[in-house]
Amino acid sequence: MTVMHSNGDTPQATDVPNCTTDLSIEDVKQELYNRHHPSLTFLDIEAHAKTIHKIRMLKQKHNVVMLGHNYMEPLVFGLSEKEEQGDSLGLSMYAANTDAPYLIFNGVPFMAETAKILNPSKTVLVADKSAGCSLADNFGAEDVRKLKSLYPGAPVMIYINSYADAKAESDICCTSANAAHIAKTMPGDTLIFVPDIFFAQNLEEELRDEKNIVYPGKDNTARGAVCEVHEKFTLDDLLAIRESFEIPKGHAHRKLYAHWECRPNVLKEADFYGSTSQIMKDIAERVAANQLERAFVASECELTSNLAQEFPEVQFWTACSVRCSHMAQVSLNKIGNILEAIDQDDDLSEFEITLSSEIIAKARTPIERMLEASV
Ligand code: SF4
Repeated sequence: MTVMHSNGDTPQATDVPNCTTDLSIEDVKQELYNRHHPSLTFLDIEAHAKTIHKIRMLKQKHNVVMLGHNYMEPLVFGLSEKEEQGDSLGLSMYAANTDAPYLIFNGVPFMAETAKILNPSKTVLVADKSAGCSLADNFGAEDVRKLKSLYPGAPVMIYINSYADAKAESDICCTSANAAHIAKTMPGDTLIFVPDIFFAQNLEEELRDEKNIVYPGKDNTARGAVCEVHEKFTLDDLLAIRESFEIPKGHAHRKLYAHWECRPNVLKEADFYGSTSQIMKDIAERVAANQLERAFVASECELTSNLAQEFPEVQFWTACSVRCSHMAQVSLNKIGNILEAIDQDDDLSEFEITLSSEIIAKARTPIERMLEASV
């Protein structure tokens, strides 16, 4: 595992134009230089400024909403306005309420499906329709039906990291930010949680006195899945990180964070575990209280890249070999291609997410139940 740290430079106040009208390439470069991002060198900026300028101009011209998942690399993540950035839940809620005709979802297709389900009249586009996800790809509608037959009457809570056909067979959806809360609201003693096996085991431990969580592989032969990114972190890795980067357990100002999708023994070792938004909130609160000097986040590498930009006062260490190869399919050039196709009124089928009206109707119910339960 290769590890690096942010440089700790203190950025100056950025001078970002509020409106992109008349934005020049030099403006774009200046904005990128002003970020003082530890992983953005002049080589990156000079190489990509022209493409970023084109994307921003076309985005504005066609009133495109560009949703950016936290796992996008910084140059892609920065294409989205602040309110267009977030994790699965935040982006889903934003997608449900936008009036813009086009939604470009900078993430993988299962995420864009959720946006389409919540706002079916919109044209929802992704940079690479072939980008997968180890969770979503390895679990489908048939797997949900099998579990329902094994536990008749037990409701099914499905993680948002799944495709629409599997959601359509489930009772309620959840994200890592609201899974524990939603599980408690579900009727009965037993709840089926799919498809993430590690997340299910973590939830089982969290709710051990309140709910019987059943999941693929727990006393059954049903198929489940794990996130191939979070799976990479082992307990030995975390112990080595603590020692190498001097983040002792319980240190007041140095913290080791882990995402819900990590292995149970990794979560136990972490100083704080939660969803992406919960981890970011904890970091923000500690920074505001001047109580965080160093951190490691056991999650996708680019999340830490984006955190390093947002919280320059914190020295972040990151495992840059732990990247999601699926999310990494989203590139500036591919996003530029979508916008050029919109601008030229070309066929968008290469990028467009389409779902049958039947699947949209069936998958919408568990997602809407989640949004209602999350308020
Ligand atoms: S990090 Fe990649 S593999 Fe893991 S859940 Fe997200 S999209 Fe799927």
